[in-house]
Amino acid sequence: MKLAEKLEVLHSAEAIQKRVTELGAQIAHDYAGKDLVLVGVLKGAILFAADLCRAIDLPLAFDFIGLSSYGEATESSGVVKITSDLSRPIEGKHVLVIEDIIDTGLTMRYLLDNLATRHPASVKICSLLHKPSRARTRIPIEYLGFTVPDLFVVGYGLDAGEKYRNVPFIGVMKPS
Ligand code: 5GP
Repeated sequence: MKLAEKLEVLHSAEAIQKRVTELGAQIAHDYAGKDLVLVGVLKGAILFAADLCRAIDLPLAFDFIGLSSYGEATESSGVVKITSDLSRPIEGKHVLVIEDIIDTGLTMRYLLDNLATRHPASVKICSLLHKPSRARTRIPIEYLGFTVPDLFVVGYGLDAGEKYRNVPFIGVMKPS
């Protein structure tokens, strides 16, 4: 059985690319003339970041940060470890964090608090997905791809046990 046949499509590859183009144009408009650094959160946001950066027609810098949540695998504990740090300082820069999904919001809360200690000029969030029904802390998402229901989604960078990241659309597992 092919990888994609195990999934039900929630957002098609075409719908994602259309939304990425819209977000890129909005970001290019908002950050014109500013010293912009995109900070992609590993590993889930890499496909989104790679497509989004090509839709932003501005000179910009690119960096990545790796985070992992302690505790249960299925639920964020809010206790987060930086597994791979930014390669350069962000002091005085306009930082746009690129994330795959904001679920409880606890991971992003930790990241925002951590980045603030490095004195950037501003920090905003661009998240591909948001699950508002599960929010445990209010996270302002300046740029949002899609709102999703309370389901475990995979594809376009999002994994299930490290698999499915390479699926070109966002889907949910069909019952087996
Ligand atoms: P939060 O701290 O907001 O609860 O969790 C954020 C992280 O949990 C995301 O970056 C992602 O790694 C993971 N996550 C939350 N919901 C899902 C989901 O539906 N599918 C996948 N693949 N990962 C998720």
